[in-house]
Amino acid sequence: MGKNQNSMVRRCPRLGNPVSFDYCEVSGDHQQPCFKIVDCWWERFDVVQYLQDNLPEDQFIRLMQARPKPKVASLIELIEQAKGRTS
Ligand code: SF4
Repeated sequence: MGKNQNSMVRRCPRLGNPVSFDYCEVSGDHQQPCFKIVDCWWERFDVVQYLQDNLPEDQFIRLMQARPKPKVASLIELIEQAKGRTS
């Protein structure tokens, strides 16, 4: 995991320029992932799984909650899964 998706590039809807995935990972508040990272990347690879594996759980949940247009059922599933890992 890691370096392949970090070299992927897409056009950023916020900047209007191409950006690489590693930019998206640190372009949010406090160098955390951009709040749109799931929406921008889910078609390219399993970004949710990647973030769940690589982010602290509170950041991951916050990111899922910050998604602009969550698919509510799968969002709740994801949060329940994340909670279930520690309880
Ligand atoms: S995740 Fe954020 S920074 Fe990355 S392409 Fe999407 S809007 Fe741009």
